Amino acid sequence: MSKITIVNVGYRSTNYWVISAGTTRLLVDLGWPGSMGMMRANLKRMDVPLQEIRYALATHYHIDHAGLGQELKQAGVPLLVLNVQVSAIPLMKTWIKPQDNYVEISLHDNVTITCAESRSLLERIGIPGEIIHTPGHSDDSVSLLLNDGSVFTGDLTHPAFISVEDPAVVNASWQLLRERGATRVYPGHGPVRQMS
Ligand SMILES: [Zn+2]
Repeated sequence: MSKITIVNVGYRSTNYWVISAGTTRLLVDLGWPGSMGMMRANLKRMDVPLQEIRYALATHYHIDHAGLGQELKQAGVPLLVLNVQVSAIPLMKTWIKPQDNYVEISLHDNVTITCAESRSLLERIGIPGEIIHTPGHSDDSVSLLLNDGSVFTGDLTHPAFISVEDPAVVNASWQLLRERGATRVYPGHGPVRQMS
């Protein structure tokens, strides 16, 4: 099995993570609407060929994390959706302004799985880990936890910065990640940090 590498291809204050096992890659969080040119440029700069991305996974369906979902599909990258996320996808367009150039994400052509099915799917592309439902920031939020303890949490609220969120839900999600072995957090915004 290839060594796992992680690079950030993010822009506009948002992290987009490419997890690679050799030339098999997974993109976690997908770019702002209408920013496909920026995404392509950043992938190129980090030596990530678009056609090597096996799946695109949005941690949740907010525009800064999933805005490019449909455009990536059109470019040949399958969209990996968790069943807990499906109902959030049509709501994306309620956040969008016309000038955002959002391409609406269709539902019929995604790869939709349950969290329980995620480990075997990831194993098939050489990336050992699982996808865990971690509500708190939003009901459709998921985290990708790799076997080495790296966890991609999107906008799961840092416990010290809970405001409008339900603290019990946020803390339960962090506790679950901790129990499953998370040690290092790759957030949707800001620097990588150790689990607190
Ligand atoms: Zn968000």
